[in-house]
Amino acid sequence: MKLTIGSKTDATILPEPFCGRHHLGFLIEVSSSQVHMSVGSARTSLACHHRQSCFLKLDVIAMKLTFLGAAGTVTGSKYLIEAAGQRYLVDCGLFQGLKELRLRNWDQPPLNPSSLRAVLLTHAHIDHSGYLPLLVKNGFRGPIYCSSSTADLCEILLPDAGHLQEKDAEFANRHGFSKHKPALPLYTEEDAREALKLLKRVPFDVEQAVGDHVQMVLRRTGHILGAASVQVKAEGETIVFSGDIGRYNDAIMVDPEPVASADYLLLESTYGDRTHDQLDPKKTLGDIIASTVARGGTVVIPAFAVGRAQSLMYYLEELRAAGHLKNVPVYLDSPMAADASDVFCRNLKDHRLPEPECRRACSVATYVRTTEESKALTANPVPKVIISASGMATGGRVLHHLKRYAPDAKNTILFAGFQAAGTRGAAIMAGVDSVKIHGEQIRVRAEVQNLSMLSAHADSNELIRWLRGFGRAPRMTFITHGENHSAEALRQRIEHELGWRCHVPRHLEAVELQ
Ligand SMILES: [Zn+2]
Repeated sequence: MKLTIGSKTDATILPEPFCGRHHLGFLIEVSSSQVHMSVGSARTSLACHHRQSCFLKLDVIAMKLTFLGAAGTVTGSKYLIEAAGQRYLVDCGLFQGLKELRLRNWDQPPLNPSSLRAVLLTHAHIDHSGYLPLLVKNGFRGPIYCSSSTADLCEILLPDAGHLQEKDAEFANRHGFSKHKPALPLYTEEDAREALKLLKRVPFDVEQAVGDHVQMVLRRTGHILGAASVQVKAEGETIVFSGDIGRYNDAIMVDPEPVASADYLLLESTYGDRTHDQLDPKKTLGDIIASTVARGGTVVIPAFAVGRAQSLMYYLEELRAAGHLKNVPVYLDSPMAADASDVFCRNLKDHRLPEPECRRACSVATYVRTTEESKALTANPVPKVIISASGMATGGRVLHHLKRYAPDAKNTILFAGFQAAGTRGAAIMAGVDSVKIHGEQIRVRAEVQNLSMLSAHADSNELIRWLRGFGRAPRMTFITHGENHSAEALRQRIEHELGWRCHVPRHLEAVELQ
C-alpha cells in the first residue's frame, strides 16, 4: 500500500512493525527523515532511529484550526476546529461589505457540512450567524449551541435575512441587475426556519459537552444581547474565541467577563487601531438632533433593529424625560424591531436595565411595520428622528430614507456603529458626493455624523483591558475580525504592552495547535 503524504513525501505502509519498540501494527518507509500521517483525523508524526531507512517519533497533533472567515476583514466569522477526531465550526457568519467578500458566500465551502459534529455560536449578528441556513441547506444536521438570547435573536434575524435574500433576487430579476438569469437567493426564509430547528440553548458559565471529550463554556461579552466568548476544551488544550467584545461601563450592556486562561486565543480587532470618543452619548445625540431640527431637518439613523436600536431608544427616552425632544417624533422603521425590543425586555439577565425602564425605553419610538407606513413616513415633511436598518446602509428600509433625506443639507445622517469597508455607510462616512441606491446615484448633502461611542465594540484600550483579565499569556493569540490595519495595529500593541505572541492569520490559513 502506497500513500502520498503532504505534497512532497511518499511513504509506503508495510504489513508489520519494523522494530521491537514501536508496535504500531504497520511500518512506514519514508524518503525523508520525518513524515506526518493521518490516523483517523488526528495527525501523527512518526520517527524511529532503529533502522536507517525509517524514522518514527510519536507526536500527536491535538487540534487544527482553519480560518474560514473574519481573517483580514470584520465579516464572515467562521473557524473550523478539528479535535478528538471530530470537526466543529465556531460561528457561521456571512461575508458583507466589499463585493469580493460577498462573493465568498457563494463559494463552495472547503468542508462537507455533514461532517461537522456541531456549530458553536458566539452571538446572533449576521456576520456570525448568517451562513447557518446555507450550512443546513448543504447537509449540516448537528446541534447549534448558543446562549438563550442568541437563539431568540436568531429566530428574528435569520428568517429576515432569508427574506431579504429573496427580495434582493426578485428585485434583481425585475430590474435586470444580475448577470445570472434568473438571479437566485443565497437562501430563503424557509431555509432559515430549518436552521432554527437545530438551535440548542446553553447557559452561561457552565461547562457543556458538545461531543466526545470536547466541552464548551460561554461567557458574557456585553456587545449585544446574548453575546459570548466561547471556550473549547479538547485534547487537554483550551482555546478561547472572543466573539465580539463589548464596551465597559455601557449604560445598557454588561461588562465583558474576564477569562481565566487559554492555551490559544482568537481575538477580534474591529477597533484594534482606534479609541472611541469620550463624549457623553446622550448629550451628543441630543445636540445633533436639536441642531438638525432647528434648521427644519430630519435625523436618519441607520441602525440595526437589534441592539443599537434599543440603545438609541434608551438615550432618546432619557432625553425626552429630561424635557428635550419636544415635538420631535421618533420612529423605529423596521418590521422586526418590535420583536427585537420584546426579546430585549424578556432577557433581563443579559443587560443592566430593569424591566420597567426597559419597557419605557422601548416605547419612546413609534414602531413602523408596514411598507405603506414606511412610505408615509418618507413623505411626511415634519422634522423627526428615524431609526431604520440596516446599520451600514447595505440594504433594508433605511435606503428609502437615505434617498429622500441625503440630498438635503438640512438633514443629518447619523451613524451609530462600525462601517465596514465597501458598505454605503463607509462611503458616506468618507465624505463621498453621492452613493448608488437601487441603481440611482443619490447626492449626499446632508450633515454626516458618527456616534462612535455608541458602538457595541470595545475599542483598542478596552480590548487590552479584557486581555489583562487572563491569568497568563496564551501560547498564541490569533488576531481576527478586523481590517488589516486594525489587526496589525493591535498585534503590535499586544506584543509591545503585554509581551504575548500574536499572529494575524490569512483567509483559509490552517494552523496546527500542538
Ligand atoms: Zn457582533
